[in-house]
Amino acid sequence: MTRSVLVTGGNRGIGLAIARRLAADGDSVTVTSRSGALVEGLSVVTCDVRDAASVDAAFTAVEQEQGPVEVLVANAGITQDQLLALMKEDAFTDVLDTNLTGIFLTCKHGLQQMLAAKVSGSIVCTSSPTGFVALAAGGSGAYSATKGAISSLVRCMAIDYARFGIRVNAVVPGATETGLMWNNVPPEEVEAMRVQLRREIPLGRLAEAEDPARVVAWLLSEESVYMTGSHVVCDGGILAKSSISV
Ligand code: NDP
Repeated sequence: MTRSVLVTGGNRGIGLAIARRLAADGDSVTVTSRSGALVEGLSVVTCDVRDAASVDAAFTAVEQEQGPVEVLVANAGITQDQLLALMKEDAFTDVLDTNLTGIFLTCKHGLQQMLAAKVSGSIVCTSSPTGFVALAAGGSGAYSATKGAISSLVRCMAIDYARFGIRVNAVVPGATETGLMWNNVPPEEVEAMRVQLRREIPLGRLAEAEDPARVVAWLLSEESVYMTGSHVVCDGGILAKSSISV
């Protein structure tokens, strides 16, 4: 059965892998992009998740093109790593606006379309290990705060909308080879950090975007039909491992 799917942040990184996977499985998939630039093989809608009017317009366009959204992947996100005492207020606000207000606006419109169409829809939001633990390297306060809040929102939405047959779950990707992973790392330090991560991640490698994408496809499928309010961790063992080595 072809479902109407919207993936925010689906023009690259983890979102793109999710969108490609769902499209390959037969869904009608639209991805968001702030620039509106074409993405090979997928429908694209221009959307800035920080902006209510932009999100509203994107959902209206998707509904006109492929019907009300039945499957939503609220995935767009950014990070700006900085110790809080040094962090500029506009940087903090940008992380909150994108990661948290963005998820709120996206889920709000997704839920509205599902309710209006009486669709037993499914939503997956992208959380992070930082929603559960502080990164040992530090400086992830703003990002962590949004991911913890997303995890709370997922549980609350799951409870509020279970009676309508709408499921809301979260995926928790570990360190994944995308732009976001390396944006805050000086280029000359990237390879050394990769080596360190391979040493420290129990499964011995970073994730490829396709790793969490497989989990999301499963979470959105009938296979997980009795799951809501859940987090599926796909992190190579990061969260299972204590940082204390004695
Ligand atoms: P990328 O940097 O590769 O992609 C980020 C995506 O978010 C892009 O598609 C980008 O779109 C979109 N985006 C950013 N800001 C906005 C905005 N204001 N409005 C609309 N879209 C926006 O990162 P990832 O693929 O790694 O990240 C995807 C999600 O996964 C994020 O929520 C991130 O926090 C989470 N995650 C990532 C991990 C990792 O190690 N990579 C680990 C755990 C979680 P555009 O190109 O238009 O800017």
